[in-house]
Amino acid sequence: MNRILITGGAGFLGSHLCDSLLEKGADVVCVDNFFSGDKDNIRHLFTHAYFELIRHDIIHPLFLEVDEIYHLACPASPLYYQHNPIKTVKTSVMGTINMLGLAKRIKARILLASTSEIYGDPTAHPQPESYWGNVNPIGPRSCYDEGKRVAETLMMNYNRQNKVDTRIARIFNTYGPRMAINDGRVVSNFIVQALRGEPVTVYGDGSQTRSFCYVSDLIDALIMTMDKEDFTQPVNLGNPTESTILELAEKIIKLTKSSSKIVRKPLPSDDPARRCPDISLAKEKLGWQPKTDLDEGLIETIAYFRERLDVKKR
Ligand code: NAD
Ligand code: UDP
Repeated sequence: MNRILITGGAGFLGSHLCDSLLEKGADVVCVDNFFSGDKDNIRHLFTHAYFELIRHDIIHPLFLEVDEIYHLACPASPLYYQHNPIKTVKTSVMGTINMLGLAKRIKARILLASTSEIYGDPTAHPQPESYWGNVNPIGPRSCYDEGKRVAETLMMNYNRQNKVDTRIARIFNTYGPRMAINDGRVVSNFIVQALRGEPVTVYGDGSQTRSFCYVSDLIDALIMTMDKEDFTQPVNLGNPTESTILELAEKIIKLTKSSSKIVRKPLPSDDPARRCPDISLAKEKLGWQPKTDLDEGLIETIAYFRERLDVKKR
């Protein structure tokens, strides 16, 4: 069976990917520096015979023998990636060079966890893979957006120049259990606020949209993208059902039966106004589309946070 390296394996998505690949019989090596990840996300795997954990920062080279690399290491929440923007760029650029260098040397297939953020504040709607994006190269989000754009550039060039077998997954907003309580992204913020009976913080007038994908659907899509032969072009992975942020806040208050009120906070600069994936390519090439609707996914996620907050209180 395959030996698989997952960078960022202690994070939200990475830890679910560790679970799924181990269930499929793979031998998994998880590499993480725990900047935004948490040992609690993978603690249940510590006694698994085919799981290994290495604390390592991917801006430094790494030498291992594996068959596949899922390259997820990078903080994904604006709160975390803006904390040390220079480090975020280094993680995307130097980290991706290191992982591509490793993939080249050991002839491993490598998948990059890219992002819908490479489209910036899009002028095309919904966004197909052929859209080149509208990114502010000097704004507060650019350490992440431009970092990922360079990471995509590196993937394509290692493929063309060095024949590295690459995959690029452009992930749209994904949520679910194991997001950190203080992650700062909208779904976890709203659920934690609603469960604590605190004000639910809508930035701006809440008319901006996002399209939320449940984690299990996204993990299936990542594995299908990796396993697809001759598939080096970028592919959008996400749920095309679009909601405004205000609708999301109202839905979460209702599902948690919370007495929380909505409060307005200033809209962060360069916050994209609309985001929705065109997933025609994933449907056609992978036969994939999300199965979990927003209510269903939120109910699972609320149950997770309810439990986490109870444990913290004890
Ligand atoms: P996360 O912050 O929970 O996980 C990222 C993991 O990478 C963490 O465990 C962190 O400690 C680790 N990490 C960060 N910098 C590192 C470094 N220099 N060396 C080693 N490890 C490092 O975020 P996530 O939501 O799980 O996102 C995982 C990947 O998917 C990221 O690359 C992100 O850009 C991408 N992505 C996620 C979403 C989403 O909605 N969740 C959307 C688009 C793209
Ligand atoms: N947002 C919000 N309140 C919060 C956190 C986020 O209104 O407490 C908004 C944010 O301004 C953005 C949307 O929710 O318009 C999604 O934000 P998130 O940070 O989750 O993801 P991204 O902006 O990177 O898509």
